[in-house]
Amino acid sequence: MVKVLINGYGSIGKRVADAVAKQRDMEVLGVTKTKPDFEARLAIEKGYKLYAAIPERLSLFEERGIEVEGTILDVIEEADIVVDCTPSGVGRENLKMYKQYKVKAILQGGEKAQYVEDNFNALWSYERCYGKNYVRVVSCNTTGLCRTLYAIDSVTDIVKVRAVLVRRGADPHDIKRGPINAIVPNPPTLPSHHGPDVVSVIPELEGKIFTSAVVVPTTLMHMHTVMVETTGTTRDDIIEGIERTPRVFSISAEEGFHSTAAIVEFARDIGRMRYDIYEIAVWEESINVVDNEVFLMQAIHQESDVVPENIDCIRAMLEITDDNMKSIEMTDKALGIGLKINT
Ligand code: NAD
Repeated sequence: MVKVLINGYGSIGKRVADAVAKQRDMEVLGVTKTKPDFEARLAIEKGYKLYAAIPERLSLFEERGIEVEGTILDVIEEADIVVDCTPSGVGRENLKMYKQYKVKAILQGGEKAQYVEDNFNALWSYERCYGKNYVRVVSCNTTGLCRTLYAIDSVTDIVKVRAVLVRRGADPHDIKRGPINAIVPNPPTLPSHHGPDVVSVIPELEGKIFTSAVVVPTTLMHMHTVMVETTGTTRDDIIEGIERTPRVFSISAEEGFHSTAAIVEFARDIGRMRYDIYEIAVWEESINVVDNEVFLMQAIHQESDVVPENIDCIRAMLEITDDNMKSIEMTDKALGIGLKINT
């Protein structure tokens, strides 16, 4: 059992902790919190050992009567790996600590690619990240693009990728972000950073991918329109590629999946914890091939699609298995991933 320390117990951190706890080959060494809030209490109730992320704040927990085991510095050397799930920019700062204590670490998509040795997606770069010390699991949007591009690449050759990203304004718990009533080009410059981020995982797409992004007032999911010029393919081939690709599933508007709201309702109906949808949902009706160009629309649950990627990244970096598909299978089985609705 490898010991995993989760530094930062927010949207991503608490999901990664629960996902680690469900694997047979890893355990949660502990989780860290900056403040003694209800999430800190819940972490203890779940049985996780809680540590103060910032040593100077240890007394705040004691004052609130929340029992912590100590600070991150009391436990970091016991960890085989730290999964850093702190807000964008903090992970980069924390890298200094991980290097000082000689512990492997995974950063998240809010950090820049240049600070790590490589960038992770289980389908594309598992082998490259094998045994590495500092790796970034790319963002939710990049993860979604990487998965469907893998499905397309599995049946034809990709010539050019164009994608328009409609991004959620905030996560459901987040009261500080927006917009509440506007559509925001974000960034207003073209291309957006998402294309280069995909290239950090799939270098062969350098100069071939161009993305744009807007932010809209929704908290549920992101939505992409993806256009991929290929050397030639058919709609049936693309559907087959999607069916064969792990962590991607097709949905149909005809069966009531009219919007991201319906996908979330479905996840609630099937009892997914926190209505997490680890898989990328592709609208079957949107899949089309015109003059060698593939078109599709996909929805991405921003809070959870990167969670299984973090688990596979742990296995790659700690050299638990060199077979990415074996790791994916183990992770997916433990998390109940593998939705097939239209078959
Ligand atoms: P979040 O704000 O929900 O959680 C971050 C947690 O880290 C909070 O609990 C915060 O209190 C804590 N924290 C702050 N400073 C800390 C420190 N110095 N040490 C330890 N903990 C600290 O953020 P999130 O949405 O979970 O995002 C975490 C990372 O994951 C970011 O890089 C983000 O870009 C990336 N990411 C987020 C999403 C998403 O949609 N939420 C999706 C994919 C990737």
